[in-house]
Amino acid sequence: MKDNNIEGRNAEWRENLRRSMTAKERMKIPRVKMPELKPEYRIKCNDEVNMGITAEMAVLEAKRCLDCPNPQCVTGCPVSINIPQFIKNIERGNFAEAAATLKETSALPAVCGRVCPQEKQCESKCIHHKMNSEPVAIGYLERFAADYERNSGSSSLPVVADANGIKIAVVGSGPAALSFSGDMAKLGYEVTVYEALHEIGGVLKYGIPEFRLPNTIVDHEINGLKAIGVKFETDIIIGKTLTYDDLHNMGYKGIFVASGAGLPRFMNIPGENLNGVMSSNEYLTRINLMGAGKPDWDTPVLTGKNVAVIGGGNTAMDSVRTARRMGADRAILVYRRSEEEMPARIEEIKHAKEEGVEFLTLHNPVEYKGDETGRVNLMRIQKMRLGEPDASGRRSPIPIEGAIEEIPVDLVIVSVGVSPNPLVPKSIEGLEISNRNTIMVDNNTMRSSIGDIYAGGDIVRGGATVILAMGDGRRAAANMHEALKNMH
Ligand code: FAD
Ligand code: SF4
Repeated sequence: MKDNNIEGRNAEWRENLRRSMTAKERMKIPRVKMPELKPEYRIKCNDEVNMGITAEMAVLEAKRCLDCPNPQCVTGCPVSINIPQFIKNIERGNFAEAAATLKETSALPAVCGRVCPQEKQCESKCIHHKMNSEPVAIGYLERFAADYERNSGSSSLPVVADANGIKIAVVGSGPAALSFSGDMAKLGYEVTVYEALHEIGGVLKYGIPEFRLPNTIVDHEINGLKAIGVKFETDIIIGKTLTYDDLHNMGYKGIFVASGAGLPRFMNIPGENLNGVMSSNEYLTRINLMGAGKPDWDTPVLTGKNVAVIGGGNTAMDSVRTARRMGADRAILVYRRSEEEMPARIEEIKHAKEEGVEFLTLHNPVEYKGDETGRVNLMRIQKMRLGEPDASGRRSPIPIEGAIEEIPVDLVIVSVGVSPNPLVPKSIEGLEISNRNTIMVDNNTMRSSIGDIYAGGDIVRGGATVILAMGDGRRAAANMHEALKNMH
């Protein structure tokens, strides 16, 4: 039965918590430290580096939250999680309730608690910054509550509306697709997800490595969707195996395109086509999705002792840390700006350094050279300096004339960005697309130029983040539902 006085009761226990400790006392508690596997152990395996905080640590960290009357952390979260409420639930020891609060607005809290760039989002807005104190560890607490629920086996299925018989198709199975599918299934729609690969999960499975996001966590969320009726069809490429017209003929009344941005970019410099130069997309997919490197799997992957990874984002960091785990003695990250401009999560930068990755910032490759067999053996790199900020707001890298160095390498992994694969956008006649092959949508509704097609995630934004993709999926679901309910 619905508790109509829940707001009142929440206000009461929160007031009691506020009275139990002064703000000054709360401010004195140091930020929790995440327990981690030791670097010398973890570079020899794929085990998750962050071990999670204990219940005692979580409750203490939750006490640091001042339960601000106008909490800015919430405005920093793209899906507007009720952050003070889930944290205060942890403080009073009600972990299941904390997880339930997270699930009200986020379909994948155990994933986001691990991979969201919290320092740029919710935690960047925490009031502690104004008092020269470290922000509340919102991400660690989110992960704690979601893991608690999963490990205690107490996950309950969400309430699902009566089936309305309306069929919806989803293209792709990454975070945008998963959050869209969950919301639509809850509203009573018959949802089928079509995925080109043999695994469900998109970048969460084939991109982000086990040592950062174990597949079991993603599978748990997928199983939750299956339990509420979402169907998954793998090895089906929309635009090839099935066309937009086929989906119509099959009776689908709405289509959500969430096919991501899986097309790697290269720098178009001499030597990029030598053996031993490849994209991170290929490198990580071979290892994460196709088992390369595992003794009992057949998938080959080139390995090297002197590996250079080009780029400064999360993908570059995942690749260089993977290279260490694949046996590289020297793993160098080459980035054309300084560390301050790196888009990767701060924690990944810290972990990479602990694992012995060399950071060669303010350098940019200009040419690769190979041996007589055509395998890369040398990288020529240009020294850079920083100039004025460019369109991205970051200081632009400028080459220092004549300052070129040569470094021996036997594997180069290029991680300088991704673009959407044009297959889906170009296969649908009349669909408005940008010159970057992203699908153009109304930003409020996520509806495309074709009325029954909605889109979200990286296919709309270019390479972005998990939480933004999820936010798009939720917005698309709400708006598609609004449109369909008025038609039926
Ligand atoms: P995706 O996750 O890319 O999923 C798209 C899916 O669509 C794929 O499974 C693809 O196979 C499928 N597909 C494509 N074309 C078709 C077709 N024609 N028919 C059927 N299926 C199709 N973000 C963070 O927030 N934090 C991080 O730490 C982080 N680390 C990252 C590390 C790596 C290595 C990479 C590559 C990205 C990382 N990102 C991170 C970015 C984040 O993962 C993406 O922004 C997010 O996954 C985008 O979600 P999506 O649902 O739009 O697409
Ligand atoms: Fe708590 Fe920080 Fe959010 Fe304030 S801004 S409610 S202290 S997490």
